[in-house]
Amino acid sequence: MINECLICNSIINEILNINFIFSFKAYQNIYICKLCRNDFIKITGNKCKNCCKKGDFESKICLECKRWSTLYNFKLENYSIYEYNEKMQDFFQKYKFNGDFKLRKVFQNDLVNYLNNKSEILVPIPVSEKAMESRGFNQVIGLIENIEYCECLKALNNKKNQSKKNRKERLQTKQPFSIISDQIKLVEGKEVILIDDIYTTGVTLRHATNLLLHNGVKKVRSLTLAR
Ligand SMILES: [Zn+2]
Ligand SMILES: [Zn+2]
Repeated sequence: MINECLICNSIINEILNINFIFSFKAYQNIYICKLCRNDFIKITGNKCKNCCKKGDFESKICLECKRWSTLYNFKLENYSIYEYNEKMQDFFQKYKFNGDFKLRKVFQNDLVNYLNNKSEILVPIPVSEKAMESRGFNQVIGLIENIEYCECLKALNNKKNQSKKNRKERLQTKQPFSIISDQIKLVEGKEVILIDDIYTTGVTLRHATNLLLHNGVKKVRSLTLAR
């Protein structure tokens, strides 16, 4: 099996070993070479049990989550797979902002492996109509395109793009989503995992969680590729 690394274009020489062949694991295509993979760092060790921020916090909850807990009557239950380091920033520049659609495949296996055996319904964070027009795709759905999901959230038209806002502006945002009424029926009374690409301030996920809980969803947690 010969593939080209989607990040550096070098040839990936992948030899299936005999143990794998007899292990009955589903074969996953590899889209990134070993060298590039080493540039992306998984979040391990001590972290905030609400938002997955790295660090050793008092009672395992970071200051920001403690602050949020006075605003909302739910706790975030977020898991993020990778650190948002320079390489990840680079990746998102190419994938999300330059719109290189083939890059959606680079981390699909990571999400599939995490979501494997989870019984919740997946709900991707939607992108605005404007972003859809300029990018041509929802970068979050790109990450989970091979898994079943429910699009019950819709982005409200917002004058300013979320990623162009500064931190203060982001924290002050009003609810940026609305419900798609015929789709929300599919998740009423059910448990949901929200999927997003990058965890920045957590405002997006808190708004989406709040909206779903107010519309009959039983439980919400979230998964982001990077944080
Ligand atoms: Zn590479
Ligand atoms: Zn936290």
